[in-house]
Amino acid sequence: MEVSTVTTIAQRYERILARMARAAQRVGRRPEEVRLVVVVKGQPLPRIQAVVEAGARDLGENYPEQALPKMQALAQVPDLRWHMIGHLQRRKAKIVAQYFYMMHSVDGLRAAQALEKRLAQQDRTLPVLLEFNVGGEAQKHGWPAHDEAAWPALADAIAPVLEFPHLQVQGLMTVPPWRDDPEAVRPFFRRLRRLRDFLARRFPRHTWEHLSMGMSHDFEVAIEEGATFVRIGSAILGPRPG
Ligand SMILES: *Cc1c(COP(=O)(O)O)cnc(C)c1O
Repeated sequence: MEVSTVTTIAQRYERILARMARAAQRVGRRPEEVRLVVVVKGQPLPRIQAVVEAGARDLGENYPEQALPKMQALAQVPDLRWHMIGHLQRRKAKIVAQYFYMMHSVDGLRAAQALEKRLAQQDRTLPVLLEFNVGGEAQKHGWPAHDEAAWPALADAIAPVLEFPHLQVQGLMTVPPWRDDPEAVRPFFRRLRRLRDFLARRFPRHTWEHLSMGMSHDFEVAIEEGATFVRIGSAILGPRPG
């Protein structure tokens, strides 16, 4: 890989961290409250190595089987944390149960069941976030959460997931509708935060501390609205090839 590419990725990584810190400070939050997950899906290995060299330790992947060779190639980095952020095909649950640090995208009861089963077999617990569809788009994954009047029923629907002994439910995740203007995404981030507050009142024994929201073009708005994880790929690693 060319030196210039390594430099560019390191610079972009640093600049994103600085923008994250400023966004947090604008709303009186501490920069340490927000963690950056660098999304490596579809990215060539040299780019991923460059961002790890720049200091990134939280990496996000949508496809567990595609994470495996990357994990192997980076096995000498001792403290890497792999975050699963994509829709889980149940036959891939074993990989997530075995190798991932956190699962952001538990998007239904069946995914939760598949994961619980594999985690039980491995005698391992996993921090997970529940994914909600806050924009009402048919093609998006997650429990439907567009209609606030339906939240009491939604709480009943997720209640069984909270009982799985090997899943540590720690918060919520969303992929909001695309808007050219990041400001126009703000209401969706706000809705996820309100849903978090609603669930925290309803299920006080769980912490609900995490909100995983915000991507390359809207992460600053997400941080202003309470994100504790932002998931950023192309703004750091460049456009995904192919
Ligand atoms: C691809 C992806 C991202 C990162 O998107 P960028 O626009 O490249 O920052 C974040 N979250 C999820 C769930 C994704 O699939």
